[in-house]
Parts: sequence; structure tokens; C-alpha cells
Amino acid sequence: MDSISSRIAKVSQSLTQAITAQAKAMLAKGEEVYALAGGEPEVDTPDFIKEAAIQALNDGRTKYTPAGGIPELREALAVKLLIDNNLTYAANQICVTAGAKMACFNAILALIEEGDEVIIPAPYWVSYPEMVRLAGGVPVIVDTKESTGWKMTPEQFEEAMTPATKMVILNTPGNPTGAVYTASELRALGDIALEEEIVILSDEIYEKLVYGESKHVSIASLSDELYNLTVTVNGFSKAYSMTGWRVGYTAAPKPLAAAIEKIQSHTVSNATTFAQYGALAALQGDQTFIEDLRGEYDVKRQFLFSRLKAIQNIRVIEPKGAFYFFVYTGNTGLKSLNLCDKLLSRYKVAAVPGIAFGYDEGVRLSYCASLDILNEGLTRFEQFCREH
Ligand code: PMP
Repeated sequence: MDSISSRIAKVSQSLTQAITAQAKAMLAKGEEVYALAGGEPEVDTPDFIKEAAIQALNDGRTKYTPAGGIPELREALAVKLLIDNNLTYAANQICVTAGAKMACFNAILALIEEGDEVIIPAPYWVSYPEMVRLAGGVPVIVDTKESTGWKMTPEQFEEAMTPATKMVILNTPGNPTGAVYTASELRALGDIALEEEIVILSDEIYEKLVYGESKHVSIASLSDELYNLTVTVNGFSKAYSMTGWRVGYTAAPKPLAAAIEKIQSHTVSNATTFAQYGALAALQGDQTFIEDLRGEYDVKRQFLFSRLKAIQNIRVIEPKGAFYFFVYTGNTGLKSLNLCDKLLSRYKVAAVPGIAFGYDEGVRLSYCASLDILNEGLTRFEQFCREH
């Protein structure tokens, strides 16, 4: 079969999933692996959420729902967005979908025409450029620097703009760098977007995982004008450890929300029905799980930071959110894929090559692992860095 569409032929496979799969296969064969590559909390989904989904199944909630999601969940999300994010959305402006990944893709598909340019700060979450390509758009990558906290500056944003620019993707807190944009940084970028009416896709999936003095800010909450220009993406995967449930959502101005719902109605139809009831319980139940998770990750973050800072030929800055470190490994002289390959096969440490995020002189280490694994993984990573 050689008739794959040119649209798909242009798209590359997800490298993050490839490394994770390789590490899992090694583990399944009984090999030791210190997995610092994961993108999901290692703890299970809280029981009260599982019980709500089981109850939904037992109650016969096994049929289609409206394309945008069950009304109760959309209402609960509207309340969540108001309380947590200072954003006022009606329930019909919210579209529940199969994970934040689909939420991003729905938004991109709803907005991007053939040839439209989308500005994406790098290192970026692996799927953004491919989603843009799938929609016929052109990703325009802006390389950020450690010196600006891996954040795109207003100058860089302006420089990357052309008459074909349609959208900018902001991800705060960010994967893979853990960068958290402040309100004033977002305002500065927002002012530029407003001048040229560039739509903002704001991916806020890690909003609950911010540390120290940092605060999560939703760019759409900064002014009515920004609200009207922004599609906010979020989901349940990270905050409630529900990656396998596949529940995420978009919140958008009305015409865009209607377009997104239309796409959804012709593609996934709706997010899995009983998973939506689990998500509803997650929002309405006890939120201490999130605070506990955040507390644990903060301990792990600080532990990793002190270990990484002590390693000679790498560089690292303190991540303010999410559960990742983006480590500069340019001094080893190794390409990131080669580095991660050696690290996994010889030192049994799984990390994700920076090239997956559009930055070849770094690797992503995640701290979604027990302290024992992190400790041994870091000892081995340190040894690797000493020997390269
Ligand atoms: N956005 C970012 C920045 C992510 O890191 C991820 C998950 N790795 C997603 C979206 C997708 O999340 P979900 O599992 O809800 O599809």
C-alpha cells in the first residue's frame, strides 16, 4: 500500500510514545529500567472517580451523549472555569472530548486553512506541529532560550509573524520545560496577538501543577478582547491522574465553540459516556488529591533539581510547573536521539530526546516516578554525563 495521503505522509510518529513503548517492552522482558520518560502521574485515579464511572455503567449510562458532552459536565466545567480561571463560559461554549489532545486538534481543525501559519514556541509539546500539518497549516517554530526561562518573548513573537499567521500556541505550564508564563508576560504576548488578530490556543492541561511563588494564569481572563481571541484547552489527565480515561475539553467564543462541536459530531461523536461521569465526579468531589499530588511533585522537583545542578557538563533551570525538567545536553556533543538511545540501552534510564520537542541539544526528564527510581535514575544519569 503506497497510497498514503500526502497530508499524513508529512506527519512524523510521536517520539515520546516510541521511547515509552521501548522502555515498557524492556520492563515486560524483566529488564531493569529507570523510567524518567513518562508523561503521566504514576499514582492511580482516585477511587471516588472510578466508583462514579462504575455507577454510571451500572445505571446504564452506556449510550451516546450530546456531541459536546453531558449537560451536567459542561455546567460543572463552566463553574470550574469561573472559580479557578476567572473565565465566564456558558455550558454550550464548552466541548468535552477524548482528551486534551483531541481538544487541541479540534481547535486547530476548526481554525486553520491550507497554508495558514501557526507560531509554536520550542521546545514544544510533541504533537502541536503535527496537528497543524494534519490540518494543512504550516508550523512556524520559534526557538526559546534557557535565559528567558524557555519562554517566547514579545520580540520573538513579532519577528515570527507574517501576513499568513493565523494562530499562536501557548502552553503554560509547559511540556517539556515546565515554564510558567506570568500575567504580564501573557499580557505582552496577548497585545501583539490582538494587533494582528492572531488566535491564541492556550493549552492549560498542567494548570494545577505549579510550584513555589508561581501562579497559573489563563490568558483569556486578562481582557474581553483576549477572551474573544482565545480557545482554552484543558483536561482531566494530569490533575486527576486520568490519562487513560481520555477526557479533555475546549472552551471558546460561541462561533468557534459551535464549529468545534460540529467537528466532534462527525468524528469521535462524544467522549466516552461513563468516563464523562467519572470526570463529573472528579470536579464535584474532594479536591485534596490534587493538592497531595502537587505536594509530592514539588518534593520530587526539588530533589531532582539539586541532583541535576550538581552534574558537571549539563545545564538546567528550575522548572516552575508541570512534572518535567528540560536538561541542556549540548556539551556532550551527542544528538539527543543518540544520547537517549545510549542512556536507555547501556544505563537503563529512559528519557525523551529533545528532538521530539524541536530542540536537539536537550533531553526531557520527568519526575513521574517514585523517589527510589528518581534517585537511582539520577545516579545513572550522572554517571552517563561523567562518561560522555
Ligand atoms: N497538552 C500537553 C502539553 C500535554 O503534555 C498533553 C499530554 N502529554 C496533552 C495536551 C494531552 O493530554 P490528554 O491526555 O488529555 O490528551
